[in-house]
Amino acid sequence: MNINVTKAYLPPLAEYSAYLQGIWERGWLTNNGPLVQQLEKELSDHLDGSLVQFTGNGTIALQVAIKALELSGEIITTPFSYVATTTAILWENCTPVFVDVEDRTFCLDATKIEAAITPQTTGILATHVYGYPCDVLAIEDIARRHNLKVIYDGAHAFGVRVHGKPLLSYGDLSTCSFHATKLFHTAEGGAIVMNDPALAKKVWLYKSFGHIGDEYFSLGINGKNSEFHAAMGLCNLPRVPDFIVARQALAVLYRQELVGLPLQYPEPTEDSLEYNHAYFPVVFDSEERLHVVKDGLAAQMVNTRRYFYPSLNHLPYHKGASCPVSEDIAKRVLCLPFYQELAAEQVRWICQLVRKFHGFV
Ligand SMILES: *Cc1c(COP(=O)(O)O)cnc(C)c1O
Repeated sequence: MNINVTKAYLPPLAEYSAYLQGIWERGWLTNNGPLVQQLEKELSDHLDGSLVQFTGNGTIALQVAIKALELSGEIITTPFSYVATTTAILWENCTPVFVDVEDRTFCLDATKIEAAITPQTTGILATHVYGYPCDVLAIEDIARRHNLKVIYDGAHAFGVRVHGKPLLSYGDLSTCSFHATKLFHTAEGGAIVMNDPALAKKVWLYKSFGHIGDEYFSLGINGKNSEFHAAMGLCNLPRVPDFIVARQALAVLYRQELVGLPLQYPEPTEDSLEYNHAYFPVVFDSEERLHVVKDGLAAQMVNTRRYFYPSLNHLPYHKGASCPVSEDIAKRVLCLPFYQELAAEQVRWICQLVRKFHGFV
């Protein structure tokens, strides 16, 4: 049996079809339709009233965010993220300046940010890796003192709360991805989350070609999303709490079944964290062992993913300064299959395989 690293939840077809019925009746497929508006409202409620705009994906959300905050020059960022975090910066003609990550959370190390600030620095773009929060309070303090804007790539952060607030409500704005591989998905999709209405207006224009009717205000792009994607979101959103409960149980089981192996796990440093169990990453003691286990599992049709690899300061089209912690983790980290419909039996079997191949090195 083939087990993938993730599996998108699909709601009962009848539930999705009921939304399709409405789309057919209205003949309104995109451009801020009623389902998009309803999803944005429900997402806003889910995020304690933050302003939410549904976008085509999480990458365009990052690009629109950089534009709307008028960032230029250098942006301090993390080398341990998905490639879209860095390419969004490059695509917007800014320079990513990599600062290394913490060895516990694998998030941007706030204590190393100030040394990297130059007169050209305009912002910080940090990722909440696997849904574990960056040190949002320290980053907020640095940004205030140096007059920098803060964007969080919260692609993994949906459903996480810290210090009593949604993690996505921090920063000048946060972006999220609702790609099919994410905890909460709309097949393709993303969001920009913020609290400042003036900024929200600007974001809306940038993601909608910069005009309202015949009045033109700013540069813009097509960052919108459709009624079909919103419908998927409306089906899936009420199930997020159940997804998190199911994933927590699987994470506990994984940890039990792998106990005794010399594996490292990212560890949150915030006591107030309410975690979403977005991924199940394990860090091996060597890259060689990672390869043996990964290949062994693949031969049994169990697919894992090197996520994140490579460290983004090693991209062929943009080299950054050395970041030893990120480079080291990126070589040794592997995400094991993790989704709410994974059976306990499957987790036990995967762990038996990990134990077996782990012993081969
Ligand atoms: C998935 C992801 C993205 C990109 O989101 P898309 O919706 O696929 O464009 C960006 N950053 C991180 C950290 C991600 O995991």
